[in-house]
Amino acid sequence: LFAGNTEFLKGVVAMDGLPPPDRLEVCFAGRSNVGKSTLINALTGRKGLARASNTPGRTQEINYFTTLNGPYLVDLPGYGYANAPLPVVEKWQRLLKNYLSGRQTLRRAFVLIDARHGVKDVDEEILKLLDRSAVTFQVVMTKLDKVKDKDRTKVLEQVRKAISKHPAAYPELVLTSSEKGEGIPILRSIIADLV
Ligand code: GDP
Repeated sequence: LFAGNTEFLKGVVAMDGLPPPDRLEVCFAGRSNVGKSTLINALTGRKGLARASNTPGRTQEINYFTTLNGPYLVDLPGYGYANAPLPVVEKWQRLLKNYLSGRQTLRRAFVLIDARHGVKDVDEEILKLLDRSAVTFQVVMTKLDKVKDKDRTKVLEQVRKAISKHPAAYPELVLTSSEKGEGIPILRSIIADLV
């Protein structure tokens, strides 16, 4: 599925720009700087494929990637990025809402949470939106290498507690470090099993 065959398909700015729902898809969401592009690049084995949320241009787009005979990988805009003007924020919030509630082929949302920070208020907003849209989400902890073993238990407890309140949550967390390559094969097999 991910053997170097992933390609950027298109950036989508409105619902009518979505590719035809001709295969299943999974999406990735997370605060700006959570490590989303690094994770997608690690997952696909292609450095530079997904670009950071603070790269001008691709910021507010839903980016589609194709895998060989596999699902679309969908990179949602990073949220919690304060610099965007309000009308822009409102426009993409509407797009996000329409996408999550209207995309029949969406199998799961992976919500990335920085292992140093746990679930924050801005994350809660998207978790609630996923509940309302009835999209199953699974939390992917990022940057595990930045947290000492002895501090992991506490943050993981906070995250488990936070997601336990969400009906759309898939209870198992995926622990990753894109830096070390930890958890990446597991995430690949989760995606492969879904589709
Ligand atoms: P995005 O805004 O969510 O796409 O975030 P990026 O993927 O651009 O990552 C933000 C910063 O975190 C960059 O400086 C990355 O090098 C760093 N980063 C991402 N993943 C990891 C990781 O697993 N470990 C460490 N130590 N740093 C990471």
